[in-house]
Amino acid sequence: DIKLSSRVQRIKPSPTLAVTALAAQLKAQGRDIIGLGAGEPDFDTPESIKQAGITAIREGKTKYTPVGGTVGLKKAIIDKFARDNGHDYKPEQILVSCGGKQSFYNLTQALLNEGDEVIIPAPYWVSYPDMVLLADGKPVIVTADQSQHFKMTPAQLEAAINSKTRLVVINSPSNPTGVAYTREELAALGQVLLRHPNVLVATDDMYEHILFRGQTFCNILMACPELYPQTMVLNGVSKAYSMTGWRIGYAAGPVEIIKAMTNIQSQSTSNPTSISQEAAQAALNGDQGCVEEMRAAFEKRHDYLHKALNEIPGVDCLPADGTFYLFPGMQGAMQALGYDNDIDFSSMLLEKVGVALVPGSAFGLDGHMRLSFATSMENLEKAVERIAKAVQG
Ligand code: PLP
Repeated sequence: DIKLSSRVQRIKPSPTLAVTALAAQLKAQGRDIIGLGAGEPDFDTPESIKQAGITAIREGKTKYTPVGGTVGLKKAIIDKFARDNGHDYKPEQILVSCGGKQSFYNLTQALLNEGDEVIIPAPYWVSYPDMVLLADGKPVIVTADQSQHFKMTPAQLEAAINSKTRLVVINSPSNPTGVAYTREELAALGQVLLRHPNVLVATDDMYEHILFRGQTFCNILMACPELYPQTMVLNGVSKAYSMTGWRIGYAAGPVEIIKAMTNIQSQSTSNPTSISQEAAQAALNGDQGCVEEMRAAFEKRHDYLHKALNEIPGVDCLPADGTFYLFPGMQGAMQALGYDNDIDFSSMLLEKVGVALVPGSAFGLDGHMRLSFATSMENLEKAVERIAKAVQG
């Protein structure tokens, strides 16, 4: 009998990656499956960014770099923060990692002792609670359901904070709901956090550039600049530039925390891939037209899917402010068909009509489905038709 650590037994594999893998497996068996589980843009990485990677290989930029990122990429990140967010950072306040995932992982490892609490509003990105558990911390889930537009209120935040609280996570626009906090809402949450200067806030800005209806991006530090000494800004190139496979994310914040996170990284992965860093630098410094092109396509698909879903009986879907996800409430449809949990309901949709979705409970809120519209309009139309058929029995 092989004995595994208690640490690894606390966590589960990413459910979103699992749905994608199951859909791929069924497809390989010849089943006609429409996958709406994917958490990545369906576009190719823009050509100029690819070329930067190819040039990096040709020029021999294929060796170790500084653990925390090359001088050039850190400068591009600092410029990006100044340009897009009005944030002022020095190179020693930046850490480049192997995707946004590693950024958050490093943060939890650098910050948490056993029993330290991390406030995570639900619905949440699937990895936050498990990464907190891996760091011996305790996820404190604050439920923000559809009636409050999936947004944590200042009163909920205040009530969740105690002497063990180390970190609060805010992801806006959000995976899985697509909903974004307004500047005023962020400022109000910020007022609560200013009363607790020992509590850090991590703002996960991964979907910053995918916003609809002309909305402009705001994070909690932009809304409340006094939070600078207690804020970690997390971002990356995966979603904005369709670079998920390149694995580049970055974090910015107080020097001591970035230094500790860099130490963790120096004893795990070391630097992210040298070639990917060159490509990410080109992405951040280059023409941003490609970002707008993808954003516009996502908005068009969003508008179609949001309307079409609401036309299905028993489905109640809020519009998204951004991202490429919708998170409709399916309670009506589930009840009508006699389902009491969304996991069985999503299995039925996969089995019966070949549509792969991720159940809301994977994100901490039962009764919903996350649909990714990072796929063609044709696939979305087919998926809607099939879901409607399944729901109508
Ligand atoms: N944060 C959020 C909210 C995400 O949805 C994702 C990816 O799904 C990430 C971070 C991490 O992205 P990556 O590790 O691919 O850069």
